[in-house]
Parts: sequence; C-alpha cells; structure tokens
Amino acid sequence: GDLDVSVPVQSKDEYGKVIQTFNDMTLRLREAEDARRRLVADVAHELRTPLSIMQLKLENAQQSGEYAPPEMLLRLQDEVIRLSLLVEDLHVLSLAEAGRLALDCKPIDLAAKLEQIVDDVNMEAEEKGLEIRFYSNKRPITVMADARRITQVFINLLTNAIRYTPEGGKISVVMEDKVLDRAATYTCVSVADTGIGIPAEDLNHLFDRFYRVEKARSRHTGGTGLGLSIAHHLIRAHGGFIRVVSEPEQGTTFTVYLPLD
Ligand code: ADP
Repeated sequence: GDLDVSVPVQSKDEYGKVIQTFNDMTLRLREAEDARRRLVADVAHELRTPLSIMQLKLENAQQSGEYAPPEMLLRLQDEVIRLSLLVEDLHVLSLAEAGRLALDCKPIDLAAKLEQIVDDVNMEAEEKGLEIRFYSNKRPITVMADARRITQVFINLLTNAIRYTPEGGKISVVMEDKVLDRAATYTCVSVADTGIGIPAEDLNHLFDRFYRVEKARSRHTGGTGLGLSIAHHLIRAHGGFIRVVSEPEQGTTFTVYLPLD
C-alpha cells in the first residue's frame, strides 16, 4: 500500500536519525491504518448477521401477503435490540479506546454498590439454578469512581458468569479493601464462577474486541463480544486493571483492581 515505504539508514549522523524517525513513523501509521481497517471489517461482519435475519423475515412476510404474526415481530424486535446494544457498545468502546471517555468520578461505597448489583442479577441467576453470594471483609469501602461505568463493568462480569455457568453452579463476588500489588494499593473485587471455563490459549485474547472463545457460544445467548474489552478500557480509565484465571470445566475468576488513591 501507500504506506509501504522505508528508507535504508546508512549513517549515524543527524541525517541517519531523521531517516530512522521517518521509518518509525511510517511503521506506526501503518499499524494504525491496519487497526482501523480491521475494526471496520469486524463491525461490518457483526452488523451483517442481524441485518440479514431481519431482511429475510421482512421479505417472507411481504411475499406471504398477510399481516406479520406477533412471534415474527418479536424476533424482529430482538434483532433490533441486539443492533442497538451493539451500536451503543461500539460507541463507548471507541470513546474509551481514544481515551476520550469522560468519567464522572465521585466517592462511592463500592461494597454497597456491589451488594445492590448482585441483588439485581440474582433473579436471572436463580432462574438458571445458580447461587450468587457476596462477601466483603469491610464496610463501607469507599473508592473514587464513576458509579454508572463501574456498574456496567460488574453487570457484564456477572452476566457472563451466569451465561457460562451450567445449572447448579455457584458464583461468588469477593471484595477486599486493601491489596498491595507492585508497590501500589488497590481495592480488589473478584467475580468467580464454577462454569465451563476458558482454555489457556484463549486467555490472551479475551479482552480483544469481538473475541469469542467459541464463535457460536455467545451469539444466541445475546452477547455482543464487546463486553470484556469495554470492561478492560473502563477499568483502565479508572487507573486500575483486570486479571483473569480460568480452568476449563472448573470455572473462571475475573479480578478487578481499583487504585485506592
Ligand atoms: P460476549 O458478549 O460474547 O459475552 P465478552 O467480551 O463479554 O463477550 O466475552 C468474550 C468471550 O469470553 C465470551 O464470548 C466467552 O466465550 C468468554 N467468557 C467471558 N466470560 C466468561 C466466563 N465467566 N466463563 C467462560 N467464558 C467466558
């Protein structure tokens, strides 16, 4: 392509340095351009499936010459909802990736917030025969955070835990007020499940956008494949990070670290 330029560096003087800088810049531009192309391709791919389902249904309805039955309208509505979620997720992700997501940080009691979130997803878990428990070594635990964004992260981790844990399983949310890691102190929250787990070779890609362990696995359970990359960026924007450990057939634990000051 246009960016496939590189000039051989023949001297170590000023001139050589300028050429080296030029080569580095071209390389970086090429990487950015590749990333942009990949994103556009991924988005097009993700939009195509719901759109073609909708198109097909509408064509069938039109050809039958009758009014569309309610079940069909419900299916169409599902696809529209899926598309809206996807577009909303993409918007947040693109802002976060560009470092332009404005956080509204205030002191919040994270223990109380988590208790409320666990309460909110409890019904969904019970319907699947799953037990969710919340443990905290101290209360209240105050952190500076954007309550809405933090809620989004934990809802996502918990929804995944529910989604990928078979009936009869257990999910626990464990909160510790002070954890030392690389000479800094963090408040730390683990979301652990006894679910299907994630193979070791997939762990490195888990936070990549649209990455799914099995292509078919999450599509019909309603996932956009963006949840974890959004969570990663949201926690990074708070100065924290997320770690994951998993054992196939045993379960998965995501741990969120939020800095204390
Ligand atoms: P999705 O919307 O597909 O759930 P995510 O970004 O939230 O997208 O997750 C990416 C992939 O990671 C999922 O498709 C799934 O394969 C895997 N995954 C996430 N959480 C878990 C979990 N708790 N147990 C097993 N696999 C998980």
